[in-house]
Amino acid sequence: MVTENLKNVEAKIQAACDRAGRDRSEVTLIAVSKTKPVEMIKEAIDCGISVFGENKVQELVSKYDELDKGLEWHMIGHLQRNKVKMLPGRVKRIHSVDSIRLAEEIDKQFSNAGLIADILVEVNVAGEDSKFGIALDEVEEFLRKISQYSSIKVHGLMTIAPYVDDPEQNRTIFCDLRKKMVDINSKNIDNIYMDELSMGMTGDYEVAIEEGATYVRVGTGIFGSRIYT
Ligand SMILES: *Cc1c(COP(=O)(O)O)cnc(C)c1O
Repeated sequence: MVTENLKNVEAKIQAACDRAGRDRSEVTLIAVSKTKPVEMIKEAIDCGISVFGENKVQELVSKYDELDKGLEWHMIGHLQRNKVKMLPGRVKRIHSVDSIRLAEEIDKQFSNAGLIADILVEVNVAGEDSKFGIALDEVEEFLRKISQYSSIKVHGLMTIAPYVDDPEQNRTIFCDLRKKMVDINSKNIDNIYMDELSMGMTGDYEVAIEEGATYVRVGTGIFGSRIYT
């Protein structure tokens, strides 16, 4: 199933890149393997996938420890401060930085490990109460604050768009996030230059690619629906 699904997803990514006049190499597919067993991850690896996303630290750590060290792991879920110490050396990017207190802890733990934390700032573009993330009009102030942390490098912005029936409904969300990145870059804030946009999930990644996504996070479309127990 994973093999067939990946072929399908890859064809759709390529088609979206073609429509947008983008090169396929500008978009990284993150295979979101949360709740899924290592056997399914291995099937994805056999298809050439090496970039995976998890939303829980414990699960990311146990999969990281069990699997080949050449893989890339992305922390995409809400992150609690007391779990940050598990991440240095194990994650390629933390996509879900959404508070100064969390940034401070990330800075501390990565600094202790002698490493730089490569992060994205999570933005709640639609302003949904149910979602984490910085409000769009507070992103600049937030970035100015975290630019002080010497063990954090901000690479870009991430958003989880609303759940919608028609992915076209999320086009303006993705467009607004890209505009925010361009706007911030034009302000030449010290230590802040961003070129990554993590946006688009199974239901809307093609639209996200058309609007400039550099990371798409696809779970269900690759591994099938999740069963939570
Ligand atoms: C689970 C998850 C995804 C993947 O969602 P699908 O709809 O299954 O593709 C993407 N991003 C985040 C932050 C997630 O938690």
